[in-house]
Amino acid sequence: MIELKQITKSFEVGRETIDVLKGIDLRIQAGESVAIMGPSGSGKSTLMNIIGCLDKPTAGEYELAGENVSRYLDAELAKVRNQSIGFVFQQFHLLPRLTALQNVELPMIYSGVSKKERLERARAALEKVGLGDRMDHLPNALSGGQKQRVAIARAIVNEPKIILADEPTGALDTKTSETIMELFTGLNEEGSTIVLVTHEPEVAEYAQRTIMVRDGLIVSSTPAGRGMRS
Ligand code: ATP
Ligand code: MG
Repeated sequence: MIELKQITKSFEVGRETIDVLKGIDLRIQAGESVAIMGPSGSGKSTLMNIIGCLDKPTAGEYELAGENVSRYLDAELAKVRNQSIGFVFQQFHLLPRLTALQNVELPMIYSGVSKKERLERARAALEKVGLGDRMDHLPNALSGGQKQRVAIARAIVNEPKIILADEPTGALDTKTSETIMELFTGLNEEGSTIVLVTHEPEVAEYAQRTIMVRDGLIVSSTPAGRGMRS
């Protein structure tokens, strides 16, 4: 599903070049759930942005769902991203003036779905994350956990094969984190491939495999096969 070979990423800052990813090799199978851990600044978000086709590697090969996307142009990457990937972030990234329902409709506006179908699918996604009774709330009128549920509904509404979550529980208390991770577990059991970044070992426990990133390299990976805890 995801195959990275010798991926590097460097940024130019002033006259300096900063090498952030230094040769990442990583294979993630369809249906797997993987946690990425590692110190602050080690390159986890940079790696997620490349996996999610939000950014391009400096060098190396990236194959996503059988397509070599390594040298895709921005427009081609955007297409792959919209079709295949749902994103969830620590700070939710909801639009404050739109209701829960309207926030979930957004990705379908970009992909040209009719209004009627948008409403049906957005409602179904919100029901699925347990927010059937909060559809017309603005983000400010929702708790942190509810906001993250809206963000997850938005991430899954286009039925992506892959869900990427960068510290999805970083802004939530322990109990709420558990309910969010149970939601991801359910999505994984239904077939979604899930890659998440976390600083919390209890959150990583939900994944089948944990990858440790340190200073731009993968330094260890636990064996696959445990299954997301349910
Ligand atoms: P955290 O756990 O704090 O979120 P991280 O592992 O996600 O950290 P990254 O955000 O991937 O770390 O950043 C890795 C390094 O790359 C940092 O030193 C950061 O300053 C640098 N970096 C990231 N994006 C850019 C950019 N656009 N331009 C320059 N440097 C960048
Ligand atoms: Mg980060």
